[in-house]
Amino acid sequence: MNYFSSRNKSLNLSFKDIFFKGLSRDGGLFLPKKIPKILPENLKNFKKYNFQEMSFEIFKLFISNTFNDNDLKLIINKAYSNFRNANIVDIKKLDHISYVQLYHGPTLAFKDIAMQVLGEMYDMLLKNSNKKINLITATSGDTGAAAIDAVKGRKNINIFVLHPNNKISNIQRKLMTTYETDNVFNIAIKGSFDDCQKMVKDMFIDENFSQQINMSGVNSINWARIIAQIVYYFFIFYKFNKNHDSIVVSVPTGNFGDIYAGYIAKQMGLDIKELIVSTNQNNILERCINSGEYKPLNVLQSVSPSMDIQVASNFERILFYACGENSDILIKLMKDLKYHGKFNLSQKQLQNIQDNFSASSCSEEETISIIKNIYEKHNYIIDPHTATAVKPLLKKKYLNEKCFCFETAHSSKFPLAIQKAINLRSELPGKLKKIEFKIEKYDIIENQIDLVKDYILKKI
Ligand SMILES: *Cc1c(COP(=O)(O)O)cnc(C)c1O
Repeated sequence: MNYFSSRNKSLNLSFKDIFFKGLSRDGGLFLPKKIPKILPENLKNFKKYNFQEMSFEIFKLFISNTFNDNDLKLIINKAYSNFRNANIVDIKKLDHISYVQLYHGPTLAFKDIAMQVLGEMYDMLLKNSNKKINLITATSGDTGAAAIDAVKGRKNINIFVLHPNNKISNIQRKLMTTYETDNVFNIAIKGSFDDCQKMVKDMFIDENFSQQINMSGVNSINWARIIAQIVYYFFIFYKFNKNHDSIVVSVPTGNFGDIYAGYIAKQMGLDIKELIVSTNQNNILERCINSGEYKPLNVLQSVSPSMDIQVASNFERILFYACGENSDILIKLMKDLKYHGKFNLSQKQLQNIQDNFSASSCSEEETISIIKNIYEKHNYIIDPHTATAVKPLLKKKYLNEKCFCFETAHSSKFPLAIQKAINLRSELPGKLKKIEFKIEKYDIIENQIDLVKDYILKKI
C-alpha cells in the first residue's frame, strides 16, 4: 500500500514516509492509492475478534511492510494495555441510541485510541536508530494531552505542545502539564488556538527549521490516526449489533477526522447506512453539506471547545473524492478559499458528498438541555460534544434504526458545562482524581514565532 497527496497524484510514498511527514509539502493530505476492500467471506471472521485483533487486521491492510506481524501485534497490545475498560470501546444503550464510549483511555477523549498506537509506532521505528525527533503540536484541548501521554518518557522523542493561554478548561490543562518526564514541554501562547495552529504550520513549512530539529507531527491529519479510528466502526458493527443490520452513526465533528474514518470503513465494505456530521454552533460543515458553500466565519467559543473550529483540515480528503479524484479541480477550490475566503461546490460535487453524509448543528442551549434530559431520564451523564451528536438522532425517522452516537469525551473533562446542565460535579475516574493536586509545569510565551523557535532550540 502506497500513498499520494490530495494535491499531487504522482507521489508514491510508503506508510513509513507519510507517518513521519504527516502533511505533504505541497500542502495536501496523504491518501492511499487504493482503499482496500474487505471481502464478505473475511468479514465473517470479524465477529470473533476482540478490539486488538480487529485493529491488527485493519492496520495490516494499510502499513505494507513497515512493521512485521509480530511487531504490529506488540504495538497494538501495548497501546491498549492501560485503558480502563477491558473491551477498550464499550456501549451504553438507552432507548434507540447506543452510546459508543470512546473515552476509556488515559486522557479521557477518543483521541487516546489512535494516539497510543502512534506513540508505540514512533518507539518501534526509532528504537534502533540514533535519530531523535521533535513532535510539535497545537491543541484546543484534547489532542495535546493524548499526544503527551502517548510519548511521555520515551527515548528519542521530545514533545512540545502549544495551547492558548487561559482558553482551555483547567482539567484539560492539568491533563497536559502534570507529567513529570523530561521530554514533555508545554507552552501557553498568549493568543488563540488559531495562532498556535498557524505557528506550528509555519514551523513545518520552514524547511531549515523543521529539518534542523527533525520535526514531526501528530495532528488529526496524520493518516495513522485515521486507520486507528476506522477500527471502532467495524468493532461496534460486529460486537454490538447482533443481526448485523445496517447502522446509522452520528459523530461530534471538528476537524473531520473521526467521521472521515467512518467514510473509509464504508468504502472498505462495512454496511453503514448513514454518517451524520454533528457540529456545535461553529457549523461550517453543516452549511457546506446542505448548501455547497464552504465559508469559514469567526470561531465562536462554546461549551464543546474541542469542536470550536472553522477550517476542518480533513475535509480536503472528502473533497478530493467529490472532485472525481482530480487534484487540479481540488487545488482550484483551495485557491478560492485562500484568496476569496470561500468556495462553492458544483451540483455534482455536492451530490457526491450528500450521498455519503448528512449534517446537523446544535446550539448552546440545545446542548445543555440534551445533557439535562438524558440525565433526568436515564441517570447517565454525557459530555457536551456528545450531546451535539444526540440531537439529530432524536428525529422520528431514526427511531427504528440501529443508531450509534459517538461519545468522544468523558463528562468530567468539562465540569462547567455539566454543572450548568444538571448542577452536579462529574467526577474524574480512578487515579486521575489525583491530578487536581499535582504541580503543573508550563511556560507562558508571547504570540511570536521566533520566541517559540528559540525556546524549542534551547530545550532540545
Ligand atoms: C477532537 C474532538 C472532536 C472532533 O473530532 P474531529 O476528528 O476533529 O472531527 C470531538 N469531540 C472531542 C471531545 C474531541 O476531543
